[in-house]
Amino acid sequence: MSLNLPVYLDNNATTPMDPKVLEEMLPYFSEKFGNAASRTHAYGWEAEEAVDIARENIAGLIGSHPQEIVFTSGATEAVNLAIKGAWQNDPEKKGHIITIITEHKAVLDTCKHIENVGGSVTYLPVQSNGLVDLKVLEKAITPDTFLIAVMYANNETGVIQPIKEISDIAKARGILFFTDATQAVGKIPVNVQTDGIDMLAFSAHKLYGPKGVGALYVRKKNPTVTLTAQIDGGGHERNMRSGTLNVPGIVAFGKACEICAEKITSENERLGVLRDSFEKQILELDNIDINAGHAPRLPHATNISFHDIDGEKMIFEAGSDIAFSRSSACTSATLEPSYVLKAMGLSNELIHNTFRFSFGRFSTEQQVDHAVKVISKIVKEHRSERNYGHHKVI
Ligand SMILES: *Cc1c(COP(=O)(O)O)cnc(C)c1O
Repeated sequence: MSLNLPVYLDNNATTPMDPKVLEEMLPYFSEKFGNAASRTHAYGWEAEEAVDIARENIAGLIGSHPQEIVFTSGATEAVNLAIKGAWQNDPEKKGHIITIITEHKAVLDTCKHIENVGGSVTYLPVQSNGLVDLKVLEKAITPDTFLIAVMYANNETGVIQPIKEISDIAKARGILFFTDATQAVGKIPVNVQTDGIDMLAFSAHKLYGPKGVGALYVRKKNPTVTLTAQIDGGGHERNMRSGTLNVPGIVAFGKACEICAEKITSENERLGVLRDSFEKQILELDNIDINAGHAPRLPHATNISFHDIDGEKMIFEAGSDIAFSRSSACTSATLEPSYVLKAMGLSNELIHNTFRFSFGRFSTEQQVDHAVKVISKIVKEHRSERNYGHHKVI
């Protein structure tokens, strides 16, 4: 079997759509074009029924009630609705949020906005393994804290935060707990009941669905969470997010969640084996760090620092063979060293030589072997060039 190059190892940035998802969504662009809010004819009922089924599948994947799912344009919008909506709706106007510095920009920039409009935000550090220290978290709580926002799994390192422990701390003090679970849902078991989550953001394009559709889970009972809408007009989605529903996107999101639920255990196992085999082979090069290698991590992702190489050159040289990322996709546009790795204590110089490889449903052993071969060759070349240069100087 021939390989399609470059091999895609950037599934944390986005996943390819599963062909079964595409097949499911296509009719909703054409013959099944109804508006799910049209109550007077068959076209509307057909769309509404399809949305209901999708909502059940999506809710099922996170252990929520279908009515607790609010559709959005993606995780970024869901994050904005959760944080701004909770801030604006806080009856006691407490105004203090606790989050962590390794959050996705969607959360960090929304928190900055809250600071700009008069709120206060504590950005907690993480330990060198990427995990938040629960004692530090507890100490940061003030009588004004109304929200704790900690991501489920990190997009760059795959580190999984102790979600249940954090939600217990929040619950004991009557503080809302929100998690950006965009990297976790569909990949590892996530359950809003057993995890004690009040709000949870996720997105279809990170779990083999299309771009432009996501959801916010908003708890209905114990406690009842109410949010101020960020988009007004028509009162769709329990008055929390107006606008005609993206029926094809939602149908696809539903199918994607249904498939994830079926495959979650077997895929976790298969991808864990692929990732571990990749790491084992790369480690044979020596002078390699697996970042957060001893913390709880997503099974399909790895974040690797290569000592004594030229990171810039490696991206360039490997580009026709492997699609992978240097720090997160969002920050690579600005060429800033990753703030996530900085928070874990890596030097700017090492971050320059640090890469994320994230495998997915369509990753194969053959692809992984090809990636190992290409990377090993480049690393060895860089190191022998360096040694050569060094000897010349002497
Ligand atoms: C991708 C991602 C987002 C943004 O999701 P969109 O649906 O693209 O807006 C937010 N948080 C995390 C952790 C992500 O990985």
